[in-house]
Amino acid sequence: MAEIKLSEMRDLTRIERIGAHSHIRGLGLDSALEPRSSSEGMVGQTSARKAAGVIVKMVQEGKIAGRAVLLAGQPGTGKTAIAMGMAKSLGQETPFAMLAGSELFSLEMSKTEALMQAFRKAIGVRIKEETEVIEGEVVEVQIDRPAVAGAASKTGKMTLKTTEMETVYDLGGKMIEALGKEKVQSGDVIAIDKASGKITKLGRSFSRSRDYDAMGPHTKFVQCPDGELQKRKEVVHCVTLHEIDVINSRTQGFLALFTGDTGEIRAEVREQIDTKVAEWGEEGKAEIIPGVLFIDEVHMLDIECFSFLNRALENDMAPILVVATNRGITTIRGTNYRSPHGIPIDFLDRLLIISTQPYTPEDIRKILDIRSQEEDIEMSEDAKVLLTKIGEDTSLRYAINLITSAALACQKRKGKVVEMEDISRVYELFYDVKRSTQYLMEYQSQYMF
Ligand code: ATP
Repeated sequence: MAEIKLSEMRDLTRIERIGAHSHIRGLGLDSALEPRSSSEGMVGQTSARKAAGVIVKMVQEGKIAGRAVLLAGQPGTGKTAIAMGMAKSLGQETPFAMLAGSELFSLEMSKTEALMQAFRKAIGVRIKEETEVIEGEVVEVQIDRPAVAGAASKTGKMTLKTTEMETVYDLGGKMIEALGKEKVQSGDVIAIDKASGKITKLGRSFSRSRDYDAMGPHTKFVQCPDGELQKRKEVVHCVTLHEIDVINSRTQGFLALFTGDTGEIRAEVREQIDTKVAEWGEEGKAEIIPGVLFIDEVHMLDIECFSFLNRALENDMAPILVVATNRGITTIRGTNYRSPHGIPIDFLDRLLIISTQPYTPEDIRKILDIRSQEEDIEMSEDAKVLLTKIGEDTSLRYAINLITSAALACQKRKGKVVEMEDISRVYELFYDVKRSTQYLMEYQSQYMF
């Protein structure tokens, strides 16, 4: 591997595999880390969300090294949703990888290799590349600081902070005058005509991630002799270390990322990549974004996996590890010892534990509302009441699953709005766990053993 391959990464778009949580956009906390009752797709579960917010803050302040988070709670109480909310509140580019403990034992690779891959899927690399200079009439910039206009008029230099970088620029008298007159505020997106110095406000936006998409490749000012403005396109790719591993692994190729059939990756490949990424970091070409790795059913891991995790958490680039379980005291896999959540004491010692609670009917109703909106499904009030009742009696996840099938039933009778009859029809068609067990018990004499 002479040169780390980057070209194939350019067109790589990450595939969203977690449709069930697509409505989660953050933890829904205010600036004092207090949970709003319903915000960013999150409903209820207030103390767990608040605790998760404190952990996000610790991560941002670099105070969580070597530790991990345990979400303990019954099935369907939002453990995955909270882990994802943590990743989202760390920034839109923060990678989120998930793995169920049981998957480790069914993959065609060693358990530790599968864990290593999961870790590297949760470490992002933001790679900056500049393309050729483009002579253009208009430059678009997002101003992130209120001081821009003042600084420009006083010093003859203007500080432009785009979403990606800060550039101090001598814009020439004409431009400064124009800037001085225009009130450019934090959050404005402006276009500057290099010939006339005229500034046009294109709009205002505050959300970093949305601007990023809306504005396309970032614009950076380059040399400005004689007040000339040129622009250079800066293209930013965000990939994970795992994606770089796979693309550069001799036995695997780019397509393996889509099939998931990556096989084992040699240690030397990873070492070379780590060295290269560190070099890029020093040259200012790349930045590491530690993400969130969520391991569900952590009680399914064995003692070997736990010792891997203990070591992996000490790595500088380690993502935030969030594990979840719904078990109490149980045997640690691979040993005869029992311990809380089936987790060895040394690993337990590293954990910050958050517990999730069952939902109230109001919370269930709100989550079902959000999911219907997310799936673009209109539902009558009666149908919502019935679905909420089903959610209370069975499980939140079962009720969420009925939304899509009820919409299909509605479509079949050429209806536009999902009604009670659609919900009842799919409720009869698909059994929840309680009814399925009851059925099996009633008819067990007819089954062969
Ligand atoms: P399990 O233990 O079975 O893995 P879980 O605790 O991880 O379950 P989730 O999968 O997070 O539960 O929740 C089930 C569904 O409900 C998901 O679609 C999730 O996005 C949604 N959900 C759960 N809690 C919330 C919440 N507080 N706000 C909004 N949506 C939620």
